[in-house]
Amino acid sequence: MRYFGRMMKLSLRDQTGVTLLIPALNIVQVLLELGYTMLFGAVTNDVVGGQGNLYVHLALLVLVLIGRDLGNGLSNYYFDKQNMGVTRSVSHALFEKIQGYPLLYFEDPKRRDRINSAQTGIEACGAYLMTLEVILSFQGLYLLSMSAYFMAVDPLLFVVILGALLPELFRFRVKNRSQEQMEQNIVTQRRRLDHDEQAIYAQKFAKETRVLEAVSFFEARCQAALSHIKQERRQALHKDTKWSILVQCSYLLGFIAIIGVVIFLVMQGRIGVGEISMVMVATTTIYSTLREMFEGHLLQADSSRYAVKLVFEVLEEPLPADDEEENVKTETENVLELRHVSFRYPEGTEDVLKEISLRIRQGETIALVGENGSGKTTLGKVLAGFYPPEQGDVLWNGKQCAEGHLQSCSYVFQDYNMYAVSLAENIRIGDLTTPKARERAVLDTPEMREICTGLPQGENTIISKEFGGVELSGGQEQRVAIARSDMKQAPFYIFDEPTAAIDPMREMDLMKQMLGKKRQAGVLLITHRIGIATLVDQILVLKEGRIVQRGSHQELMREEGEYKRLFEAQSQWYQ
Ligand code: ADP
Repeated sequence: MRYFGRMMKLSLRDQTGVTLLIPALNIVQVLLELGYTMLFGAVTNDVVGGQGNLYVHLALLVLVLIGRDLGNGLSNYYFDKQNMGVTRSVSHALFEKIQGYPLLYFEDPKRRDRINSAQTGIEACGAYLMTLEVILSFQGLYLLSMSAYFMAVDPLLFVVILGALLPELFRFRVKNRSQEQMEQNIVTQRRRLDHDEQAIYAQKFAKETRVLEAVSFFEARCQAALSHIKQERRQALHKDTKWSILVQCSYLLGFIAIIGVVIFLVMQGRIGVGEISMVMVATTTIYSTLREMFEGHLLQADSSRYAVKLVFEVLEEPLPADDEEENVKTETENVLELRHVSFRYPEGTEDVLKEISLRIRQGETIALVGENGSGKTTLGKVLAGFYPPEQGDVLWNGKQCAEGHLQSCSYVFQDYNMYAVSLAENIRIGDLTTPKARERAVLDTPEMREICTGLPQGENTIISKEFGGVELSGGQEQRVAIARSDMKQAPFYIFDEPTAAIDPMREMDLMKQMLGKKRQAGVLLITHRIGIATLVDQILVLKEGRIVQRGSHQELMREEGEYKRLFEAQSQWYQ
């Protein structure tokens, strides 16, 4: 019911007219339904008793039948409309919620499972709302008025009808539990299946998968996941089928019992012969309505309820409170600092960063070097506020940073994305609020012009073959990713291996240009190529999650340490 309330609120907010019209239509439907029962009884009485206004009753009956069909059609139309609207509203709310997640949440497989479950639950929301509306307004009202009628005729009838429906209630409980169990058992497999299908079909992976001749490998994984999911579904279905057979039997017995009770009541003289037809019509109608409500609507609402619960669990989960946002652009002397920071990934067994302390002033350039796996990328992400540290502090001008203080940092990822939009748009998304003139300046740099001239529609070329455009080379993509960072005038930039796909000599030129452009800002340059570390003010050497050396290139070359070892191992790249 709580979810029903939440969805009604969404529906009222986004489509007020339709949401109010539906209960009104339902009330009219109930009145027509009652009218039908009464008129049918009256017509039968007219025929049997040979008196009364047969033609008037018949004419009214025809009108009521027409009205009932019209009402049904209208209701279905507006239900569909509301259903689509609610699906849209819920999926938008979920999208907004997930967008607000701290980035560390996405590193947690359990949370990814929850997101996946919630996404698959969206479709059920509209149906759930509609079903409950039908039950609460149309069927609820109808049953209430019919109950009053039966109480007046003979309560025994009503007791028999309800008794026949009892097994259905148990069925709900069993179905609920097995559905919950099934979702828990299949959600991870479903995500795996998505991934393995992508490995075969998505453009990003397909080429490599073919070259590696790994299609059959992923196909086998897909089959395994599919049969696991199928088996779980089959188990749940088996359980439900057993109950369904029992429930069908109870319906049949119930119907026989109702006829028996009517005959018994007539013989006892508690119902007059003239009332038989009316009681019989009313009994069978209420019985079929209850059956429809239990078998159709309640069962449907009940099976959607679990899916809806998965959606609302994500929607209603409180997020960690954001501290007040810092005004980062007004200060000239900004300082970003880590103090005794340790960090471990969720599910990780040991700290990836250990007791890290460092300061970057605006206007200063720092290179973070070290072997693969030493923790450079993780440190960049903690510094940018993507991941909150386990221990220690991330400070902005001496004050604790709000998590995700993205305003103060522009981050160029090692595994940046090229989106299937135009080249210009791929750059524009770096900061959609940037004035046109700045965007033009970024697009008109010699670097970008060189790339654009080789493209069929210049800067308007779509960067994806999947959508009729082109693909850029790795080096070109990196230059676009760097240009994207130029869109935002941040006081700090973090570049994670920004030029790894560009050859070392060209890389030196590009980095000189880039650092020149960012002279006013603080820059943390993550690289395993020691050569470009010579261009910065200070170098930090990371080893197994600890800073083992810090200083300028000249200072570090005078020490016998990790830096000198790495530099000498790579020196032939720069000859
Ligand atoms: P570098 O950038 O120096 O290559 P990373 O920061 O990427 O190093 O990785 C440091 C360590 O953290 C590695 O042992 C890596 O396996 C681990 N790691 C990186 N990302 C994750 C993650 N999302 N979950 C768990 N462990 C991770």
